[in-house]
Amino acid sequence: MTSQLSHLLENDNHELRVKMKQTLKDPVFKPLYNLSLDEERELAYQRLKKFLEEGHVSVYDFQTDPRRIFAAHEILGLCDGSVATKLTVQMNLFGGTLLKFGDKPSFKPILDNISVLEDVGCFGLTELGYGNNAVEMETTATFDEKTDEFIIHSPSTLSQKYWITNGYCHAHWAIVFAQLIIKGESYGVHGFLVPIRDKKLKVKPGVTIQDMGYKIGLNGVDNARLWFNQVRVPRENLLDAFSQVNKNGEFSSSIKGKRSRFIKMADQLLSGRVCIASMTIAACRSTLYNTIRYSQSRLGVNSDGTSSAPLMVYQLQQKALMPLLAETYALTLGLNKVKNNFAQLQTEQNAEKETSKDLIKMCCVIKPMVTWHSENTATIGRERCGGQGYLACNRFGEAIAGAHAGITAEGDNSVLMQKVAKELLEETTVQEIIKETSLSFVPGAITRLVSLSKPLSLVKIREKRVLSKLALKMQKAKGKEEIFQRWMTEESDLVQDVALSYGERFVLENFSHICKDQNNPLLEKVYDLYGAVLIKKHLSWYLQEGILNSSSVKKLEAKIAKGCKELGERLEELLEGFGIPSHLVYAPIAKDWQTFNDKEDDNVGEVSKDHPFIKSEKKEEKVKKEKTEAAEKPSTDKKSSTTKKAKTKAEAKAPVKEPV
Ligand SMILES: Cc1cc2nc3c(=O)[nH]c(=O)nc-3n(C[C@H](O)[C@H](O)[C@H](O)COP(=O)(O)OP(=O)(O)OC[C@H]3O[C@@H](n4cnc5c(N)ncnc54)[C@H](O)[C@@H]3O)c2cc1C
Repeated sequence: MTSQLSHLLENDNHELRVKMKQTLKDPVFKPLYNLSLDEERELAYQRLKKFLEEGHVSVYDFQTDPRRIFAAHEILGLCDGSVATKLTVQMNLFGGTLLKFGDKPSFKPILDNISVLEDVGCFGLTELGYGNNAVEMETTATFDEKTDEFIIHSPSTLSQKYWITNGYCHAHWAIVFAQLIIKGESYGVHGFLVPIRDKKLKVKPGVTIQDMGYKIGLNGVDNARLWFNQVRVPRENLLDAFSQVNKNGEFSSSIKGKRSRFIKMADQLLSGRVCIASMTIAACRSTLYNTIRYSQSRLGVNSDGTSSAPLMVYQLQQKALMPLLAETYALTLGLNKVKNNFAQLQTEQNAEKETSKDLIKMCCVIKPMVTWHSENTATIGRERCGGQGYLACNRFGEAIAGAHAGITAEGDNSVLMQKVAKELLEETTVQEIIKETSLSFVPGAITRLVSLSKPLSLVKIREKRVLSKLALKMQKAKGKEEIFQRWMTEESDLVQDVALSYGERFVLENFSHICKDQNNPLLEKVYDLYGAVLIKKHLSWYLQEGILNSSSVKKLEAKIAKGCKELGERLEELLEGFGIPSHLVYAPIAKDWQTFNDKEDDNVGEVSKDHPFIKSEKKEEKVKKEKTEAAEKPSTDKKSSTTKKAKTKAEAKAPVKEPV
C-alpha cells in the first residue's frame, strides 16, 4: 500500500525519478550553509552541471514528454531551490522559449547545448519599471533595414532588465523581450536572442550586467540587472514562429493585436508555473517530513511531568500538521493532473495552436495554491519545531524563502488569480447567473441536499455562488473605467475568492476521482480531512449563506479532530508515500539529532563533512590566503582572536566529525 501511495504522488516517469534521485547521492549535493555569495552561486552551478550531465532531461522533452522536465524540478526541489530555479530558467524559460519560437537550423547548436549547460541562457522579461505589467516595457528592438539587424536598446533606468536569473555569472545568451519598432511604428513585445557573453564569459560590447546582490533566499541564483546600449543582432535572431519581419521591414503575424502577441510570446510562463509548482511542492513535502519526524522523536511533558511524550501525540501538534499533510497530498495529486493535461495537450499541438482555456486556468491556479500552501507549511513547521526550526540546517528558512520566490516569479500569485477569475467570468452564461441567484434565496433547499460527508458538493456550491455573484456585479459595470474601478478597487476579495474556489473544487474533485480509482481507505481518510478543512476555511461564508448552521459546525470540528487523530496514527505509511529516500533527508531533526549534537562533534551547524566543494583547489587556496592574512594581522586586532566566532568559514568547517 505504501508504494501505492508514493507511486501515486510521484505519478509519472518512475524509473527516471529513481535515476535522478541516485544522481543526488553525489557528495556535491550535500548541503552547505555558511557560504559566501560567490561560493553559493558556484556550488549551485556545479550541482546543476552535475545533474544535467547525467542526461536525465533534454529541452526536446517539451516536444515528447514535458513531465520529464517537471519531474527534474520536483527532484531538485527536494535538494536545493537555487539549483531548481537555475534549471527552470535554463530549461524552460530560455530553452523552452527558444525551442517553441526559434526552432530553426541556425539555433540548433544552441538548443543541443542547453541540456548539457554548454550554452547557458537567461530570460529577460521583467524590467525595473514593469513586472506584472510587462506588456508596457520600454526596451526597444528597432529594425535597421540597411544592415538587416535589430538594435536592442534600454532607453531609461526603468527599462533595465531586472531579476534576471543566470544573468550575473553564467549566461551566454539572453532572450530579450522588447517593443518591436519598424519604421517608427510599434508592433508590440517580441523576443530576441541576444548574445551577452562570449564562450569565455566575457561580457559583449554594449551590454552592461550588474549584480542584484544578496537576497532573502535562493542565494545560489545569480540574479542580474541588464542594460543594452544599441546592441545589434541579425534579423534572424527574432524568435519568429508567429511574427516575421522580412528584409524590407515588412511585418506579418498570425496573431492579431499587440496584447495577444505578448501573451503568446510569454507562453513559456505557463509551463514555468508548473515547473515552479513542482519544485515547491517537493520542498513542501520535505519540510513536512522533517517537521513530523522531529515531532515524533522530540519528547515533551507527559502526564507524570516527565519529558516522555512525543510532541506528535499532542492534539495541538496534530491539528497543526495533519491538515497540512492532507493538503499536501491533495495539491500534489492536483498538480499531477495539471502535468498530465499539459503533457497531453502540449505534445499534440505546435506553437501556432491555441492552448486550451482549461489548461491555462489550471496552470495559473495551481502555482498560487501550491506556493501559498508551501509557505504556510514551512512557517507552521518552523514554529512547531521550536528552536530547532530556527537552525539553517533544518531547512525551514530555505523553504519559506523558496516558496516566496515561487509566489512572485512567473506571475504574482494574486495577479494570476485575477486572470483565472477573468477566464471563468468569460465562460459564465446569463442563465447560470440567474439560476444561482435564485437558489441563494432558498438556502434551506440546499441544506437538505448537501451534507458534511460530501464536501465536494459543498465546495461546488461555493464555486458557483461566488462566480455568479461576481458576474452579476461585473454585468452592472459599463465601460472600461467602471469595469476597472469595480474589478480593481471594489471587488478584489470576491475576484480572489472566485479563482480560489475554482482551484479548490478542481483539486478536491480530482482527489475524489483518484479515491474512487484507488480504493485505498487511508487515502480516503486523507481526502475526508482535506475536504473538511476546506469547508472550515470558508465556514463564515457557508454560515452567512445559510448553507451550514451551528450544529454542522460542531460536527465539522469533531470530524477534523477525528481525521487528525486517525492520520496521526498512520504517519509511517503517509510519510513513506512522499518518496523521499534517506540520502535526501538532510535535516538533522528528521534523523538522529542527538548524535548530531554530540559534544565531540563541533559541527558548527553544518551536516556535511569533507564536502567536495570545500576541498576544491579554489577553496584550499582561499583558506591558505585567509590564514596568511590572519597571521599578518596585528595581535591587538580583536577579529584575529581564535574564538569560535572569529573562525574563517573554511576553518570552522574543518572540525566536523561525522555526517549524520
Ligand atoms: C527569485 C526570482 C527570480 C526571478 N527571475 C526572473 C527571470 O529570470 N526573468 C525575469 O524576467 N524575471 C524574473 N523575476 C522577476 C519576476 O518575474 C517579477 O518579480 C514578477 O513578475 C513581479 O514583478 P514585480 O516584482 O515588478 O512586481 P510588481 O509588478 O511591482 O508587483 C508588486 C505587487 O503589486 C501588486 N500588483 C501588481 N500588479 C497588480 C495587479 N494587476 N493587480 C493587483 N495587484 C497587483 C501585487 O501584490 C504584486 O505582488 C524573478 C523574480 C524572483 C523573485
